Amino acid sequence: SLTTSKLNIKWRNIVVPKLTIFFMLKKISILLPVLNEQENILFIYNKINANFEQLSQYEWELIFIDDGSSDNTLSIIKDVITKHQHISYISFSRNFGKDNALMAGMDKATGDALITMDADLQHCPSLINELIKQWENGWEVVYYYRKSDNVYSSLISKLNSKLFYKVMNIITNVSLENGISDFRILDKNVVKALLNLKEDNPFFRGLIKWVGFKQLALPYNPVQRYGGRSSYKPKVLVKLAINSITSFSTKPLTLAIYIGFVFSFLSVLYIPYAIFSKMCHIAISGWTSIIVTIAFFGGLNLMVMGIIGLYLGKTFMQSKGRPSYIIRETNFN
Ligand code: UDP
Ligand code: MG
Repeated sequence: SLTTSKLNIKWRNIVVPKLTIFFMLKKISILLPVLNEQENILFIYNKINANFEQLSQYEWELIFIDDGSSDNTLSIIKDVITKHQHISYISFSRNFGKDNALMAGMDKATGDALITMDADLQHCPSLINELIKQWENGWEVVYYYRKSDNVYSSLISKLNSKLFYKVMNIITNVSLENGISDFRILDKNVVKALLNLKEDNPFFRGLIKWVGFKQLALPYNPVQRYGGRSSYKPKVLVKLAINSITSFSTKPLTLAIYIGFVFSFLSVLYIPYAIFSKMCHIAISGWTSIIVTIAFFGGLNLMVMGIIGLYLGKTFMQSKGRPSYIIRETNFN
């Protein structure tokens, strides 16, 4: 009995510290939304894996969220999973958009911190280290923004994004840096707060600012896509921009009221002129101005109604309480 207890002590001395270290390891979850990224799956996995070989003090998981890809993205992910560790996947029934994909990943991720990045390698995996370092320094949100426009952003997209951030900053209360990216680390408390918002079509760049917490911005230089093509066409970008602005501000509604007021006032001024010209028998010359006025106010009415309609539509969609995404299959249980 003496020998067994001695043995027991030895066993404990070896196993318990190891287990404790294992359970004390902090865990980092990496979310990669993917839409038709078949060329990039294995490559980005290898890069991230190599990165974590140098960060052995962390446990990590990588979650691919297949946002309704129509190429071989999903089968390649499954193939990579059979050969490598640390990987999970969620696959949507159709395309629900990148932010919804991120939301699905946040819902399943179990890390103490969560990194979101693009899967096309425009967000260089080696920059992960700095995110983790700053998170360890106590920042609860650390995100990268484009330091300068470079050859990898076209003139149109440069103009688009400049204009978008200008408008966004003027008419909403969240101020976004020009070139703010979706490459970021979030503490698990921030993730909890974001998941609690239950917002339809979340715009995370704005929502993350909105929830607060200690935030740090770091500059980076995006590089060229590794494989495939960008899936954002101008039409989609306009839709996203309108969604982001109307999600964060009701100022356009106020604007509608002001514009309506100014032009009603102008038209009131116009009435005495119309009466005066009638009295002076020059009324027939007014035909042009009538047409112009009708056309102008008709357009104005449509614009104001359109703005109101946008918000009404949002309320309508949200009131239906539809899920933000539908999962077809996943290896989470
Ligand atoms: N993406 C997605 N759903 C979409 C559009 C894009 O999951 O509806 C993913 C895409 O696979 C990539 C990331 O979001 O990992 C960034 O997309 P992309 O490179 O097309 O955007 P860009 O770099 O041109 O802004
Ligand atoms: Mg890209």
